[in-house]
Amino acid sequence: MAKTKYVYFFGNGDADGDESMRAELGGKGANLAQMAKKPLSLPVPAGFTISTDVCQEFYKLGRKYPDGLDKEVDEYLARLEKTMGKKLGADDDPLLVSVRSGAAISMPGMMDTILNLGLNDKSVLGLANKTGNARFAWDAYRRFIQMYGDVAMGVDHDKFEAIIDEVKSHRGIKQDTELTTDELKEIVTKYKEMYKKEKGSDFPQNPKEQMWGAIGAVFGSWMNPRAIKYRKLNNIKEGALKGTAVTVMAMVFGNKGETSGTGVCFSRDPSTGENVFMGEYLMNAQGEDVVAGIRTPQKLAQLEQTNKKIYDELCQIRDRLEKHYHDMQDMEFTVEEGKLFMLQCRNGKRTGAAAVKMAVDMVAEGLIDKETALLRVEPEQLNQLLLPQLDKDAVKKATEIAAGLNASPGAGCGQIVFTAEEAEAWAKEGKKVLLVRKETSPDDIAGMAVAQGILTSTGGRTSHAAVVARGMGTPCVCGCADVTFKDENTLVVKGKEYKKGDYLTIDGATGRVFEGQVAVKPATISGDLEKFLGWADEVRNNSCRTTASGKTVKGFNVLANGDTPKNAEDAFRFGAMGIGLCRTEHMFFDEPKLTAFQKMIVSETTEARKENLAKILPYQQKDFYEIIKTMAGRPVTIRLLDPPLNEFIQAETDEAAEALAKKLGLDKAALVAKVAALDEHNPMLGHRGCRLAITYPEIYEMQVEAIARATAQLEKEGAKHDVRIMIPNVVTYREVEQIRAQAEAVIANVNKEVGTKLTFQIGSMVEFPRTALSADKVAQYADFFSFGSNDLTQTTFGFSRDDYGKFINSYLDQRVLEDDPFATLDADGPGALMEIAEAKGRSVKADLHLGICGEHGGDPASIALCYKIGLNYVSCSPFRVPLARLAGAQAVIRSKK
Ligand code: PEP
Ligand code: MG
Repeated sequence: MAKTKYVYFFGNGDADGDESMRAELGGKGANLAQMAKKPLSLPVPAGFTISTDVCQEFYKLGRKYPDGLDKEVDEYLARLEKTMGKKLGADDDPLLVSVRSGAAISMPGMMDTILNLGLNDKSVLGLANKTGNARFAWDAYRRFIQMYGDVAMGVDHDKFEAIIDEVKSHRGIKQDTELTTDELKEIVTKYKEMYKKEKGSDFPQNPKEQMWGAIGAVFGSWMNPRAIKYRKLNNIKEGALKGTAVTVMAMVFGNKGETSGTGVCFSRDPSTGENVFMGEYLMNAQGEDVVAGIRTPQKLAQLEQTNKKIYDELCQIRDRLEKHYHDMQDMEFTVEEGKLFMLQCRNGKRTGAAAVKMAVDMVAEGLIDKETALLRVEPEQLNQLLLPQLDKDAVKKATEIAAGLNASPGAGCGQIVFTAEEAEAWAKEGKKVLLVRKETSPDDIAGMAVAQGILTSTGGRTSHAAVVARGMGTPCVCGCADVTFKDENTLVVKGKEYKKGDYLTIDGATGRVFEGQVAVKPATISGDLEKFLGWADEVRNNSCRTTASGKTVKGFNVLANGDTPKNAEDAFRFGAMGIGLCRTEHMFFDEPKLTAFQKMIVSETTEARKENLAKILPYQQKDFYEIIKTMAGRPVTIRLLDPPLNEFIQAETDEAAEALAKKLGLDKAALVAKVAALDEHNPMLGHRGCRLAITYPEIYEMQVEAIARATAQLEKEGAKHDVRIMIPNVVTYREVEQIRAQAEAVIANVNKEVGTKLTFQIGSMVEFPRTALSADKVAQYADFFSFGSNDLTQTTFGFSRDDYGKFINSYLDQRVLEDDPFATLDADGPGALMEIAEAKGRSVKADLHLGICGEHGGDPASIALCYKIGLNYVSCSPFRVPLARLAGAQAVIRSKK
């Protein structure tokens, strides 16, 4: 067997790998290789990347390296040393390296990096001598001890910070850059003493030992809690990636004085998507100073003033990289004594708004086509565009107390807390929190995830807080220098104190900070988003596929689930092509409908039940009328009553029974007896859905009459309507046959009475295995099918949809199941039944209309499966409609590839 290659070289105008090898080299390693070689040939310091295969082996072998790796690394280190003309950590003129992480999917700041490796008590002198810059050499050494000690050896970061703070406060200085060479030497001595005390041994002096320590730390960081959490939050499945690669790269120095510097830049604005070159840099600094938000960096535009040559060179590189990758690039650079080096490039993370704007702009610029543009935006990112915005009128009246950098858009309002732990704890209690920090670190990620917004006093748009907030779609204002901390419970803005628990509001789109709670208002779909989703609609409308059963299906629509006129308005606003599920039971939740409905339930005779139903009819008619009118001729699918009746008659305590009996005009004993009679051991599988109509046909008859009358009313007004009636919980075609006949009789009566000629499609839900398996019979009586995938999942798995929360996490953690089946449609269970229903149903009616109205209708992976099975539409909650419009289009595009 050929020996596996584990290590890949780059530099000197060439590279072993390229951008196509992300899986093996990680994004960073693959792009460094690509940048180094032709045709880009960018100035990249030489180095080598140890592949993700090693990471995979490392964990398989119980944190051991595969055989032969040490020799291969030695070989490549020798090649690097030859290229650079220096030996790692040599006494006189040391080669120093950085050791960096990088997985195939970028996980900014989550894994470890070590810089300045190769320094020790001797080589620091060599470096000082060779560069003629002792301050620089000692600064690099103290940074290395700190980083290596913390990251590779687990010495608490704060212990190093305490030493440096002590020296600074002794001198009365604020910035690290003000430290003298002697002070840096003193810090190094103190660091080493502290290190020895903590670890019981001297700080490692052997450069190779240092290098292996760093490599081990980076591979180890793949499984650190924050990296695991990040993957979980971003839905990256364990096992989906091989792990991280490790890149060992010759150091270039941004901290060699005022002609050196380091920065991060974006080829377009990652926050708004605007086509402007933006970024931040710090002179006389190393990368971690910018990313960690320790010093607030300068804007890239300033570099144009101070060093036009470097700025122009960067602009050129920006253009070349964008043209090459056809996407927005996030780049890291370092200037060493006036010479520019590129340390990294990757497709930049961006907000939802930026993703849409860039996609639309790049199509206009001819950089990408519409289909590529549609694949550029994650469906979930669209949620950010639907985030509430600050109400402009409320802003006029609000008190603005400070302004920082607009790092991630959206309005965030909440009670202020100062630690990630507090954020988590308060959020668990149901409070809305705004996390305020000096700067955030990767350890804060869980607190950031639950916050309404993030406000930091230092750090730029590229700081950790900003990058992570943008990824999460959480509003963020950073670098807000007016915010200072008095103690752990108090922050001060321009002399005014705000205590933990006080409300503040931030506007991530403008960077403004307001006192108290400022009103927000819902988003609308317009401009770029409208255009973008218009393309998605076009792709879906023009789609055509052949199902497994051999049927040709054209188009793929998005409808919404909605039970109220307000839902219908939202659905319309977000571009739903109709209502796919109107759950009529939700219309009985408020008074006076509830009382009338309860009276109907407790009725002892058919006559009494009919009498009470007659009282409900006008309410139902009015609700239906409004919904149908709002949808202006688009389909409205009204489902007849579904839940068990005992959901409406609850009397858990004596007092509740007393009160309910009084309200319904019964004596208490009679009510208690009724409650007992309605009680079921398993109501989900009990007397519900169309079973109710088999025992009490008058219930559905009233509902059908209300539907027919509402429609007739609109017809008379000349308004458009397309109403469909849906029967829930069907298990046999006989139910549909019988209920359909009863419904048609009611409709005929209404037509006769009001002089209309209304007809309605009457369809069946498919929510149980039996329904799917006998779909050919059901289809004889049903005009359409709608898959109720919530119940279909429940009954296929035998998992109670109300109780599965108790055990699903164990299933997911142990990977007994890959996905929560109630969130992502399971292809082997309900998905397979849907395929059977499609084939059997369409064997009877070739163009039988099929849709889904369970929660899965708003989940991108499930939408893709529905497309594949051959559904005509998905129906989901109004706020997920934009996401479904895009996810549906992506399913169409991917199915062609
Ligand atoms: C379903 O079961 O998927 C469905 C839409 O019905 P409900 O959730 O109301 O039971
Ligand atoms: Mg159901």
